[in-house]
Amino acid sequence: MRPGLYIHVPFCTSRCDYCAFATWSDRFDFLDEYVDAICAEIATRTRELGHSSFSTVYLGGGTPSLLSPAQLERILAPVVAEAGEVTIEANPESLAADPSVYREVGINRVSLGVQSLSDRELALLGRHHRAAEAEQAIALLGQAGMRFSTDFIFGVGGGEPARMLEEVEGLVSKGGQPGHISAYGLIVEPGTPLSEHPELFPDEDAAVDFYLSLDRLLGRAGFECYEISNFARTGQRSVHNWRYWMQGEYLGVGPSAHSFLSGVRSWNVRDSYRWGKALSARGEAAAGSETLTESQLVFEGLSLALRTSLGVPAAALDLEAIPDGLYGLTEDGRAVLTVEGRLVHSAIALLLDEEAVSPDELRHHQALGSTADAA
Ligand code: SF4
Repeated sequence: MRPGLYIHVPFCTSRCDYCAFATWSDRFDFLDEYVDAICAEIATRTRELGHSSFSTVYLGGGTPSLLSPAQLERILAPVVAEAGEVTIEANPESLAADPSVYREVGINRVSLGVQSLSDRELALLGRHHRAAEAEQAIALLGQAGMRFSTDFIFGVGGGEPARMLEEVEGLVSKGGQPGHISAYGLIVEPGTPLSEHPELFPDEDAAVDFYLSLDRLLGRAGFECYEISNFARTGQRSVHNWRYWMQGEYLGVGPSAHSFLSGVRSWNVRDSYRWGKALSARGEAAAGSETLTESQLVFEGLSLALRTSLGVPAAALDLEAIPDGLYGLTEDGRAVLTVEGRLVHSAIALLLDEEAVSPDELRHHQALGSTADAA
C-alpha cells in the first residue's frame, strides 16, 4: 500500500501559552527559504523511496495556512496527484479568505484549530484568534463546500464545560459540516507560560464529566468516536491519522518530522534552523532512527489499536483483570474500549500481552481497520 506523507510547517502567527511544538513565531523572513528547503527534502526523499505516489498527504504544524496558495502549490504539486485525502491544518486568523483556493492546489480537507468559542478561554490559552474569527472561518469553510474538522481543547482555566458543549452542539446540530471533531484535554507543557499558572490547570473531574457528555452529545448527532480524541460522521474519518493508529507507513519531511518505513522509525532534526543547515550541508536532515523488533512492533500496534474503535484481538488483553463496563467484546473476537474505558486507556494498555498475538495476526487485525470507514 502506498505510504502517507506528512509535511511539517514550523511557523505560527504567535506562540500559544501552552505550546512546546517545534514552531517559529518570529522568522517569517525564512518562509521562502523554508519552501525551497522542504521542496528539496521532498525531492530527495521521494528519490530514495523510488516514487512520489502517496495515498494521503497532511500539512501540519505550526500553521500551514500561513503559506500562500503559490507556496502550497509548489510544495504539493509533485506529491498530490494520486492522494485521496490531502489535509491542511489552519488557524482561523490565517485561513484563506476564499478557502476554495485550497482545492485548486489539491487540498480536499481542512483541520481548523478552533480550540474554543469563548474569548476568555482563547485569551487564557494565549491564542491569536478570538471567537468571532473562528465562527467566521467555520462559515467560510461551509460556504466553500470544503470538508473540514474542528479542534477543541477542553478544561481550560477550570473550563466552562456546559458552554463548550452548547457550542459543539450548535456546530453539529445542523448536520453537514464539520463532519469531524477532535477534542483534547488541555496539556500544559513544562516551561510554557501557562505552566506557571497552576490555578488555570484543568480540573480532572470536570474534564471526565465533559468527555462523557461530549461522547453522548456527538453520538446523538451521528458521530462515532473512532479514536479517543476523534469523532467522525460516516466517511469523514481522517484517513491519514488512521494510518498512524494502524501502523501504516508514512514519510515525514520538515523539522522534527518522523517517518515510519519498512519497520524503521526515523526522525528529523527538531530545530528549524539546524534542519535547514543539515539539508544544505548533507542533503538530508535525519537526526536518528531505530529498527523496531517484532515484539516492539506488536506491542505498539496493539497499544495504538486499543485507542480506536477497532480495538484489539481479545486474546491480547488480560480481560479478567479489567473491571466490567470498561470494554465490550465483538462477535468477531475484538475487545473494544467503552467510553469509560477510553478514560483509563493507559492503565488498560498495561494489560496488553504482545506474546499472545503474532505479527501476522496483528497485520490481519489492522487490515480489518483499513476496510472500516475510509473517506
Ligand atoms: S498555533 Fe498550534 S503550533 Fe502554533 S503556537 Fe499555537 S498551539 Fe503551537
